[in-house]
Formats: sequence, C-alpha cells, structure tokens
Amino acid sequence: MKWPWTPLQNLWQARRWPTHCAICNTWGPDVLCESCVGAFAQPRLRCKHCALPIQAGQRICADCQRQPAALDFCIASVSYDWPWPKVMVDFKFSAQPAWAQSLALLMRHTPGAELLLESCDAVVPIPVSAERLAERGFNQSVLLARHLANAKMQTQWLHRLRHTEAQSHLPRSERLHNLDQAFALEPTARASIQGQSIVLIDDVMTTGTTLRQAARLLRQAGARSVGALVFARA
Ligand SMILES: [Zn+2]
Ligand SMILES: [Zn+2]
Repeated sequence: MKWPWTPLQNLWQARRWPTHCAICNTWGPDVLCESCVGAFAQPRLRCKHCALPIQAGQRICADCQRQPAALDFCIASVSYDWPWPKVMVDFKFSAQPAWAQSLALLMRHTPGAELLLESCDAVVPIPVSAERLAERGFNQSVLLARHLANAKMQTQWLHRLRHTEAQSHLPRSERLHNLDQAFALEPTARASIQGQSIVLIDDVMTTGTTLRQAARLLRQAGARSVGALVFARA
C-alpha cells in the first residue's frame, strides 16, 4: 500500500488542512496556491475547435479553417508547459486523486467553461482501459468530471478498447484502417445519446486524436453536438 493511503489523503484534502502547493511547495489550504495559479494558469486566446493558442482577432486556427472541425468546441485551462507536465504526472501516478478538486476548480473558472457545463446535457469523461484502471485505481478524467458536473456524468457510454481487442473482432482487411480506433460505443446507450449536447472531459489533450475519435463515435450515435473541456493542451 502506498503512503499516503488514498482514502486517508482524501480526508486530508476534504478537511482542507494545510498542504503543500504542487508547484512551489509552500504550505497553504490548496494543492495549487494562489500565486502559482496567477503565474501559470492565465487564460489565453485559443481556437474555438481545438484550443490551440491563436492571435488576437482570430477565432479559429489555420488547421481548423482548412478541415471540418471534429469538435464543435474545445476549451483548455492551461498550456501543457512547465510546470503542468509534472503536476499532471503527480496527479496520475502518485495516488493523489484529491487533486482533482483543485484542477477541476481551475477548469470551471476557464472562460466559457461554466456556461458550457451548465448548458450541456451530458458530460463524458474519456475512459481508460480496464487494465489501466486496475493498475492506477482511478480514472483521472472521471475524478475531474465528478467535480465539474457529477449529475450529468455518463461513464457507461464509451468503452476504452485494448489495442488487441480493438483489432481482434475486425476482418483482416479492416484492421489497418482501424488501428487508431480506441473506443467502442455501449450499444444500449444509443437512445440516450440521441440529440444530446455532450462535453468530453480529459486531463491532457496532446494531438487531439483521442478526443476526435470519441467525438466521432458519439456523433455517429446521434449526438447533436460534441465538444471538449480539458485541463491542459499540448
Ligand atoms: Zn504554489
Ligand atoms: Zn483549431
């Protein structure tokens, strides 16, 4: 068992006893102190569809102008630059799920996020595979979604496939085309997905392939709109 033991640490965080800032290490009531949030989490002007930084006066980046956007909207709280990679690794791997509360608070305060969470029908955290879940004990996106919009959270609509699973049920000719297919749709969820406006939740968006695949599946199942709210954008 790792120390600090997770339930004990949840209690620690819930009581808001003093803790160390994940970035600067100073003591305070939060996992992210006010001065670090001020220094490293300033909102930036970002592309409406992929959340890449854009210039003043632009609304959409050059890439999203060239091709149809996979996401109707995409909001990111921070750029995946120092110190955030270290914070996200600590969040993912060192049994600190209580950090989700602080990270989710930052996400909610990102311009546009609150309105999005209030107006959407459903919030879908990007699932991890069963193996990953067993290994880590939690899915960081579920923890974030729980703090963002627990009542709207849907964790059963999308399933993460293992690479071999994703391949094994397909005829050989289709395998190459589906090398990148990471998700399966829960067949019984189709009726619930019809006409819904859905917000995908993820901790880190790198190329955006994962979010695009999830969005495509949900749209094929009849979702009215699909966008994403992520903590960090690479
Ligand atoms: Zn700090
Ligand atoms: Zn874009």
